[in-house]
Amino acid sequence: MKKILVTGGAGFLGSHLCERLLKQGNEVICVDNFYTGGKSNILHLLSNPYFELIRHDVTFPLYIEVDEIYNLACPASPVHYQNDPVQTTKTSVHGAINMLGLAKRLKIKILQASTSEVYGDPVVHPQKEDYWGNVNPIGPRACYDEGKRAAETLFFDYYRQHQLEIKVMRIFNTYGPNMHPNDGRVVSNFIVQALNNTDITIYGNGEQTRSFCYVDDLIDGMIAFMNSPKEITGPMNMGNPTEFTILELAKAVIKLTNSQSKIRFEPLPQDDPMQRKPDISFAKKTLNWNPTIQLEEGLLKTIHYFKSI
Ligand code: NAD
Ligand code: UDP
Ligand code: UDP
Repeated sequence: MKKILVTGGAGFLGSHLCERLLKQGNEVICVDNFYTGGKSNILHLLSNPYFELIRHDVTFPLYIEVDEIYNLACPASPVHYQNDPVQTTKTSVHGAINMLGLAKRLKIKILQASTSEVYGDPVVHPQKEDYWGNVNPIGPRACYDEGKRAAETLFFDYYRQHQLEIKVMRIFNTYGPNMHPNDGRVVSNFIVQALNNTDITIYGNGEQTRSFCYVDDLIDGMIAFMNSPKEITGPMNMGNPTEFTILELAKAVIKLTNSQSKIRFEPLPQDDPMQRKPDISFAKKTLNWNPTIQLEEGLLKTIHYFKSI
């Protein structure tokens, strides 16, 4: 039995990861400051004797004994990470330093939840891992994008300087149950709006694209990456490469919910990337990983969740 630390474990992805790791027979320590995550996501795990919850902010040092670290702590929705941008950068940078320091002291491997946002508003399409990105360093998204880029730098410097075993995973838009109804990201916004028959808010003209991965597929990939051979450090893209416009997503959600909602167009936020689609050939080749849940099936599961809460 391994003792595994999941930072950000009360959030959307973290809660699914904790649950899966417990099911696989591990002991899980979830660290979260509840900035965007909530106890409701992990309530069902609290009675499990192999699950432990620590309320802690990763920008402060943490001295515990574990065998592996998944570092997910960081708000992920633009609305939330821009709410306190200084704290967002601190979480990515100081959080990475502390978790890397912990991994270094314990000589254990550590996985970083990085993001497709390191590619910024990409001029290369689809995005491969060797693309260096197109990020505005002083814009409203920079606290997140540059914070995550700095965290990647730290991971690779600890790898080179201290021979740490690292796994850097670049996650593309992922959705599913346990997203907060007020999360602010597009899939949860559209589903909540459709279920309430209120206007669906499309920012810009809806022609911008994203590729949406269902959470179960992503968690499969994350655990497979963690368990891959030592020389596989990444960075590794993970996401579903099927690309949709935001308008197509809105129409799919309206159809699947039988909603009366109308579409309302609102201004496009500054620096909002126009297109995004992962090239996942590296993950396919090294991990034999391939997402299997297509958008309609994943949306139905997510709609079912939002109806139940
Ligand atoms: P989320 O907001 O639901 O979860 C983040 C969790 O981290 C929350 O529980 C929050 O309370 C916690 N947290 C934030 N700051 C913290 C701090 N300083 N100390 C301790 N805990 C803190 O977001 P998510 O979608 O679950 O994302 C998880 C990770 O995956 C993030 O690092 C995010 O950047 C990354 N990611 C997610 C996506 C996606 O589409 N979901 C895409 C790319 C990257
Ligand atoms: N750290 C931690 N837990 C540990 C070991 C280190 O939180 O078990 C933090 C500590 O705050 C330190 C940071 O990780 O500042 C980086 O550690 P490292 O050993 O790399 O650097 P140093 O201690 O020399 O600053
Ligand atoms: N978006 C939208 N309406 C919403 C929320 C988001 O049109 O209610 C758009 C947003 O402008 C972006 C895309 O949907 O172009 C994805 O946004 P999200 O915040 O989910 O993720 P990210 O921009 O980080 O990919």
